[in-house]
Amino acid sequence: LSDPSAPLPSTDQRYDGGSHDLNTPVKNLNPLGLPISKRDSLLEKCAMFREAGGTLSRQPSQDNGLDGPFSSGASKLEQVKLMPPAPNDDLASLSELTDSSLLYEMQKRFGNDQIYTYIGHILLLVNPNKELPIYSTLVSQLYLSSTGRLCSSLPPHIFSSAERAYHMMLQERRPQCFILSGESGSGKTEACKHIVRHLTARSSPKGFALEPRMKHVNCILEAFGHAKTARNNNSSRFVKLLTIQYCDKRRTLLRARVYTYMLEKSRLVHLRPHQHSFSIFYLMAEGLSPEESSALYLNNVLAHRYLSGGLPGESPPVATASAQSRERLAAVKQALRALGFNKQEVDSVFMLLSAVLHIGDLRFTALTDADTAFPSDLQLLERVSGMLQVSPSDLSTALTSDVQYFKGDMITRHHTVEMSEQYRDQLAKAIYGRLFSYLVNSSNDYLQGQDDSIGDPALEIGILDIFGFEEFQRNGFEQLCVNMTNERLRQYVSEVLFQQEQAECLQEGIAMETPHSPGNQPAVLDFFLQRPQGLLCVLDEESQSLRPAEQTLYKRLSAQLDSSPTHGLSLTTKDGNGNPPPKDQGPAFTVSHYVGQISYDLTGSLTRNKDSLPQNLLFTMKSSESVLLQQLFQSKLTQTGSLVPAAQSRAGLRGPKAALLLHRMPSASLVTANTVPQQPRRYHDLTKILKKKGSSSFLQRLERCGPITVAVQLRNSLSEVISKLQACTPHFVECVRPNGSGQPDSFDSFHVSTQLQYIGVLEMVRMIRYGYPVRLSFQGFLSSLMNQAKLLESRRLSQDPRLQDRHTGQQLCSVLCDTRPIILSSPFQ
Ligand code: ATP
Ligand code: MG
Repeated sequence: LSDPSAPLPSTDQRYDGGSHDLNTPVKNLNPLGLPISKRDSLLEKCAMFREAGGTLSRQPSQDNGLDGPFSSGASKLEQVKLMPPAPNDDLASLSELTDSSLLYEMQKRFGNDQIYTYIGHILLLVNPNKELPIYSTLVSQLYLSSTGRLCSSLPPHIFSSAERAYHMMLQERRPQCFILSGESGSGKTEACKHIVRHLTARSSPKGFALEPRMKHVNCILEAFGHAKTARNNNSSRFVKLLTIQYCDKRRTLLRARVYTYMLEKSRLVHLRPHQHSFSIFYLMAEGLSPEESSALYLNNVLAHRYLSGGLPGESPPVATASAQSRERLAAVKQALRALGFNKQEVDSVFMLLSAVLHIGDLRFTALTDADTAFPSDLQLLERVSGMLQVSPSDLSTALTSDVQYFKGDMITRHHTVEMSEQYRDQLAKAIYGRLFSYLVNSSNDYLQGQDDSIGDPALEIGILDIFGFEEFQRNGFEQLCVNMTNERLRQYVSEVLFQQEQAECLQEGIAMETPHSPGNQPAVLDFFLQRPQGLLCVLDEESQSLRPAEQTLYKRLSAQLDSSPTHGLSLTTKDGNGNPPPKDQGPAFTVSHYVGQISYDLTGSLTRNKDSLPQNLLFTMKSSESVLLQQLFQSKLTQTGSLVPAAQSRAGLRGPKAALLLHRMPSASLVTANTVPQQPRRYHDLTKILKKKGSSSFLQRLERCGPITVAVQLRNSLSEVISKLQACTPHFVECVRPNGSGQPDSFDSFHVSTQLQYIGVLEMVRMIRYGYPVRLSFQGFLSSLMNQAKLLESRRLSQDPRLQDRHTGQQLCSVLCDTRPIILSSPFQ
């Protein structure tokens, strides 16, 4: 165990603990160690392939690459060659590994279409960027075994990791989670779908039919929450945590739930040249029929300001109709219908999307006698009001002025043109963000299933899919949020894989060197997240100041960097050639992320950070005659997953006080996008009630809350996601992009090597060799051992004095070594 060069037992021996010793004939087991079942014919086929040698993914099916060669039965079997377990399937078992040998192994495997590799229990995936015949239901069934040796006789696969998580969930009675990481375009979202697919396939047909439902839900989430970027045509623009719950007794799927965080709403209103907004708009541009377009007042979708990217002097792009977009748009409509929307409701979703685009075209002019704004195009205002089903004068007033209550008096404040434009954009973001949340909520109702039983929270598998690291020529506030999320997640991975592992070894008296833990950059995270001087706090304070100015933001940040020089962070006012930055750009702000140095330009970040609607606009939206809009702006709608509780906890709203608040003014309850109560009069009443009850400290806390900004949401979401992960046993899937262009069959050594280095593959191998190969609780281990001992009539083990007392790791290991043949033949159920 302490010899790092010793090869480890293969993955299934270490984790499922359930492989049968093939030398021990056990009644009713087939030669592969599985109970004799219908699956045996499949296993025989598998054995045939294995004897033939070769790889599972080498030769795609001629008829249908996606469904794979197993799908068409025996006639296609010759086309598949199944690789026997190869020494390089698990990098941790290779005797010698250096940066160059690692790269060589990866390139060799990639050339053979072996896209999965283990590093111990971690799965490494190199995105093939082409369809491989390895995801069919039959292939999934091949991996449906953890009680036999089958998994280790099959190539590494995401299905195998899904199996491991499933069995560990049952064994540990603890929720499990998958953490998929990798840069943008590395295949996280696709891997997430494959995990769900396998977990569904392994569930009994009597259980909840998750997969067809997930298809509809994914279709909606991808249309509304993904966008084409320079790195990925289908890039996730939000963080998604999908949880799948199992039924205790039958072990069938019970229900699923999607939590979404940090939707990049600013993409809707601040589109840089050559960038794309959310995919749904392009599906509409290319897929709507002429009749549908005219019913939605959309003559040229791409000409709307929010989609044209504001390219100065360029004529707006014109969309060309595409059959593919038509199909995808039809699929979105069908998915909405599946979620329970009737035709009229589907139409109102599209009308709202069109209204969002029209809102973006609203302009304002200053009235001559004062600096107050007025809508420039009244016809357009009428059209937008008609689409939103609100009164045009209410909308105009709400966009150009706000009311505030001061000591019971109502004060009206008029906006400048610039402020009105900001509120216009905030309105569009609020509508789109709430529509997204509404669709997520509807998806969750749809994924709830028929069975209302509460279920065991321990029997849950979560899959976390985030937006991957990205670096463009110019990186702004949005990239900062995306990359900061990745940085925080990487720190969590590093904590689990390196620090916790080391602490555990030390605790058990196993000597080891302090490992280099890649991805652990506390200084960088402190700079972002620390209170009160971290970047997010400074940004919030500046956004809320009476005269927000980016120059002040830069000054504060550079003063902070000067006072406590932090490794890898710098603020430069000159570009690489020593020239000042162009007029529309601020000073470059460079951060040494774990992936390398990235420069950000925080121009516009103060505006982009704002995410709350003034009360006037909220009331106007609530007064809409559109049922959908009313639902979006009803206070109980959870914004971005479960952020309402996060906002409530910020205000210290728990227990009876929260209940009182919700009871007394249900429509004034807190919403994430806007922590200020939505109905001032009711809030006023509540204030009186609470004052009478002597709850002034609660009120102070409520008032101190301030508006929820993107920075606050980011911090809340990050801590919520991390605490959810901490409650689970993690399973890591590290995704790698083989090249920068997204081409199939192209392996860019430099690009891959950089990723392998920052993931810390070599350090992981080292750590895994030092660490414990078996992870079981003592109780679980002992009871399995006892059961097995009984089964094999070996009383000796159960009476071993070393197992009677408090254990140490070494004692357990020595028992394990003494009794290796027995241990290896015990199916840990
Ligand atoms: P982002 O962080 O931008 O959301 P991502 O890591 O989620 O990126 P994906 O969207 O999953 O990346 O993958 C990008 C593209 O790569 C997919 O659209 C698909 O074309 C291809 N791809 C990913 N995984 C696979 C796979 N296992 N087999 C075939 N193609 C794949
Ligand atoms: Mg993705």
